[in-house]
Amino acid sequence: MTALAEQGTPRAAQGYAGGRRDVVIDTQPKGDTAATVAIASISDQDWYVSRTHGVYHIPACAKGEPYALLLLTSRGDVIDLGDNRRFPFTITAREIADDLLQDLHDHGIFVCAGARPSPDELAAAAARRDAYYHRLIGEGDTMWARGHSYREISDLHRRAAIALGVEREWAYVPMKLSECPACGEKVKSGVAVCKHCHAILDAEKAAQHGLGPAGRESPAKAVADSNAEPPAAKQPERKK
Ligand SMILES: [Zn+2]
Repeated sequence: MTALAEQGTPRAAQGYAGGRRDVVIDTQPKGDTAATVAIASISDQDWYVSRTHGVYHIPACAKGEPYALLLLTSRGDVIDLGDNRRFPFTITAREIADDLLQDLHDHGIFVCAGARPSPDELAAAAARRDAYYHRLIGEGDTMWARGHSYREISDLHRRAAIALGVEREWAYVPMKLSECPACGEKVKSGVAVCKHCHAILDAEKAAQHGLGPAGRESPAKAVADSNAEPPAAKQPERKK
C-alpha cells in the first residue's frame, strides 16, 4: 500500500485565480540541507497533497503561463516508536517530490531535472497529460453508452473533454432551469427576460439592459406590471 493510498489521494482545488507563483515550502533543515528540487505543473488545477511532514500545495498553472513551480527542500519527520521513543529522520527533497507526484504525473506535473523545466520536459508532460485525457474521454464514452447516466461520469472525465475541446453530450453540465411564471416554459435561472414569451422576470436586470416594461405589447407587460403601474414607469426600484 502506498503512502498516497493511506493518506488519501491528492485533492484538486477549484477556483484558483492567482498567477504563476514560485512557492517555497519553508522547512527547518535538520542538519541536512539537501539540494532544492523543482516541481513543475502544467495542470490548470491546484493540488494539495497531505503528508505527516506537511501539506504541499502544487499551484495551478495560470492561463497563458507555461508552467507553475513548487520548490521543495528536505524536511524532518519523526517515527513514533511507542513508549515515548521517537526516531527523527530527514526526507530529502527528491524523496518528497517522488512521493507527492506518484498519482499526479498524468495531470502534467513532474520533477524537473534542473532548476526550471526544459522545453522538452514540458512537451513530454503535455503529451502524457493529453494521452491521459484521451483515455478518460474513451472511458466517458463507454460509460455513457451503457446507460446515458450523468452520475457515472466524473468531473475528471468532463474536465478531460473540456480541456481537449472535445464535444461530448456527457460532458455537458445541465444548466439550472426554472419555470417562467408567465408561460411555464423552462428558462435559465436568473435571466431578465423569458425567451419564450418575453415576460420580464427581473425588472431591475431588464432595465440595466434597456429592456424596460414601457411600451411593450407582449405578455411581458402583464407580468412586469402586475401591480397596475402605468407602463411609463421605468423605475425598477419599486420591485424592491
Ligand atoms: Zn415565459
